[in-house]
Amino acid sequence: MKLIYETSTKDHKALKLPKCNISYELDSKYLRNEKLELPELSEVEIVRHYTALSKETYSVDDGFYPLGSCTMKYNPKLNEEVASFEGFSDIHPLQDTKTVQGALKVLDLTKKYICTITGMDDASFQPAAGAHGEFTSLMLIKKYHDERKDYKRKKIIIPDSAHGTNPASAAMCGFDVLTIKSDNGIVSKEELKKVLSDEIAGIMLTNPNTLGLYEKDILEITKLVHDAGGLAYYDGANLNAIMGISRPGEMGFDCLHLNLHKTFSTPHGGGGPGSGAICCKSKLSKYLPKPVVLKKDDKYYFEENKESIGKVKDFYGNFGIVVRALTYMLSLGNDGIKKTSENAVLNANYIMNNIKDLYDVAIDEVCMHEFVLDLTRFKKETGFSALDVSKRLIDYGIHPPTMYFPLIVHEALMIEPTETESKNTLDEVIGILRKVHEEAYSNSVDLHKAPMTTKYGRMDEITAARNPILKYGDK
Ligand SMILES: *Cc1c(COP(=O)(O)O)cnc(C)c1O
Repeated sequence: MKLIYETSTKDHKALKLPKCNISYELDSKYLRNEKLELPELSEVEIVRHYTALSKETYSVDDGFYPLGSCTMKYNPKLNEEVASFEGFSDIHPLQDTKTVQGALKVLDLTKKYICTITGMDDASFQPAAGAHGEFTSLMLIKKYHDERKDYKRKKIIIPDSAHGTNPASAAMCGFDVLTIKSDNGIVSKEELKKVLSDEIAGIMLTNPNTLGLYEKDILEITKLVHDAGGLAYYDGANLNAIMGISRPGEMGFDCLHLNLHKTFSTPHGGGGPGSGAICCKSKLSKYLPKPVVLKKDDKYYFEENKESIGKVKDFYGNFGIVVRALTYMLSLGNDGIKKTSENAVLNANYIMNNIKDLYDVAIDEVCMHEFVLDLTRFKKETGFSALDVSKRLIDYGIHPPTMYFPLIVHEALMIEPTETESKNTLDEVIGILRKVHEEAYSNSVDLHKAPMTTKYGRMDEITAARNPILKYGDK
């Protein structure tokens, strides 16, 4: 496909602006030397360009997108409409707070709601993504120990089933990572006890974990960490299974991040914008990124909290994402939020139970919002891998699941249908998964060649990773 610059033709225009009769003298040092190079296109050329571009990709609006751990749920269009209200989209972060009371109320109200859902006391919307929220939460933990002059706490415990961003965030924050082995997919208390000491800053956990399993010993786990003087951080990217049912605050966690761009329906993929909102218990509240929104005499204002870890992003985070999350929560209500999680769990179990006679499930138990298949036996018997199955699913018009993650399962396929899929879609998907299984075992289709119906077939992923061409004109 051509780039928009290559489609450009001199003097093609989409807009006719009235003649401008205002002149303004700028100091010559601010003026550019060459003319600004912008593509010139007519309206229909622009529309065709972006329509073509949108057809090159696949989204939740196209079809089933079971990318495990990513919670690719449908994003209601109502959220977009509300986020585009002038009072939200046409304001400036440096505007006098008197003129943006409504926007500050959105921040305050969303904070109250996510604190209620998570069982926490305070929150911040500054972090721009999940990993950024992990990093910010760890900064709170670090500050907490430093303020108590407990400087030797330099280690963070992370189970081997964790999302890759967890150890990366801990390392970015200057901690040493202690990995503990899980036992049948969940945290082993015995392994945990072995690494506890007065050098532990805390633990990072996601519950349900990346295998889609609920940590049944969670209360004992957080107690063990607390007794050793550490804090417990909850990776809340997977909150979709437990909203309105179980609260991290009551599981014993001290702080967490949420991916508003997963559980709370704001769009994601393609690089953002996102929101890795963080929540914490009151003992960490004073360290939250600054400024915080407070209310006095019925007026909202920003406060530069003195003991803050500082800023982690410009202004107050990706505000439009917060508006979408609040719209989502208000339109669902208490019961709707609980129902969302119930249906997310039901949908995952429905698919799992209708394919597990053919495919091996990594841990064959009731799952939460997602489950992991282990295609080791499948590969041995057919010669086709989890990658081949994923690519074949593209031919049937569905997005591949997450592959080769979590790392503790070989030939892993991680399926997360979310609550937004109907029973019709789930039945169709089950049919497709069963069909692909039949194709592989009968060898009637060479899955190594899939996808066969798309514009592009197998990509050279190794060259793409080793020698990426990131800029137009590079070879
Ligand atoms: C998605 C995810 C993250 C990271 O979120 P980003 O917004 O991609 O940075 C962290 N942990 C888990 C379990 C996740 O699923």
